[in-house]
Amino acid sequence: MDIPASEILVAGGGIGGLAAALALSREGAEVQLIEQASAFSEVGAGIQIGPNVTRILRDWGLESGLRRVASFPHELLARDARSGRPLGRLPLGERAENLYGAPYACIHRADLHQLLLQAVQARGVPLLLNQRLIDVRLQGGQVTARSEQGLQWQPALLVGADGLWSRSRQALHLTEPARFSGHLAYRGLIPLSEPATEPQVTVWMGPRLHVVHYPVQAGRALNVVAIVHGETPSDPQAWDHAAHAAHLFQALGPISRPLQQTLEAVPAWRLWALNDRPPLTSAAQMGQGSVALLGDAAHPMRPYLAQGAGMAIEDAQVLAQCWVGAGSVGERVQRYAQQRWPRNAQVQARAIRNGRIFHAHGLVSWGRNVAMGVLGARVMDVPWLYRGLD
Ligand SMILES: Cc1cc2nc3c(=O)[nH]c(=O)nc-3n(C[C@H](O)[C@H](O)[C@H](O)COP(=O)(O)OP(=O)(O)OC[C@H]3O[C@@H](n4cnc5c(N)ncnc54)[C@H](O)[C@@H]3O)c2cc1C
Repeated sequence: MDIPASEILVAGGGIGGLAAALALSREGAEVQLIEQASAFSEVGAGIQIGPNVTRILRDWGLESGLRRVASFPHELLARDARSGRPLGRLPLGERAENLYGAPYACIHRADLHQLLLQAVQARGVPLLLNQRLIDVRLQGGQVTARSEQGLQWQPALLVGADGLWSRSRQALHLTEPARFSGHLAYRGLIPLSEPATEPQVTVWMGPRLHVVHYPVQAGRALNVVAIVHGETPSDPQAWDHAAHAAHLFQALGPISRPLQQTLEAVPAWRLWALNDRPPLTSAAQMGQGSVALLGDAAHPMRPYLAQGAGMAIEDAQVLAQCWVGAGSVGERVQRYAQQRWPRNAQVQARAIRNGRIFHAHGLVSWGRNVAMGVLGARVMDVPWLYRGLD
């Protein structure tokens, strides 16, 4: 069955898909979004969003909503996971605002997802739940998409925002599966009785491990992520499991008392296997003809630069800007892909490198600790990233 055509079909209603629907609709495009799930929802975990991202959310009129639900750390503190010793500090807060013109924020994924969803709904974008894309073909420049539920679309543009296990990739003949990174993420939330007066992002680094925690929900909860090395899961797509604290402590080995106490305060853990793809090597991996890929569908990355959702939001902003530019659909998609692939590749590569540095031991960890202690912000800041889009 064909349904009334929209100019643009966005496949996937995660943070990336909603951001794309919002950005495109703000530019006057006629957009429709499909999502395989029966309700819009996000997993119970936090994410950090740098000034490159909060600036875009401000442009989209979401700053006051963000201020209500996010937390704004005044610094990033790196500590040694074994000894507990502080290793280096990167001031955030006012420094980030002054340098980059927008704040550094920490937010619960559900809160960010909700902000975007409400903005998309307020614009009257049709949102179709229970529509699972199963077939996408690009023939003679025209894309045809079909859902398991029997609907079919022939939009002028298909935006593939269907995440790590994307179906949209098949239209571009990108058949290589995502790869398991060898790392597992344990995630949990600690309820807080009151917001910290000086909220921090704390990163604990140790051999083959790191732990990050920061406040979310306007300081009412502390989000905790512990990354350890582990086995390839038997079913990589079933990536969200309840997990046992005992397994985590066993994988971590000896850790400092303050870190141990923080981890013991987590009431329930969930476990993710971390998958990614090698950094992009060409524009053709982000879009061709009337198909544009965005977010994890195009460039899933390790979360060690805290920018996966951030890059999806940047993608959305650039796609919308390219869409209203001159030229055919294919030319506009080409411009989008050309603009986005080098930056996404750079972020993917830097995230992999960060993982190696965070998990280092021996001489490498010694060098890391000296550099952070002596140079502080000069090695911990990422100006090329936080300055954002031109
Ligand atoms: C441990 C961890 C920590 C992280 N920390 C950060 C951080 O601090 N900062 C940051 O910016 N990022 C972070 N990320 C990354 C970030 O979560 C992802 O990059 C981001 O959520 C990707 O969004 P997306 O919309 O592209 O994909 P997804 O969130 O996967 O959304 C895809 C959507 O498409 C739907 N879908 C899938 N297949 C189909 C189909 N066939 N048909 C229809 N719908 C479909 C799904 O149901 C889903 O709703 C972290 C990730 C992890 C695992």
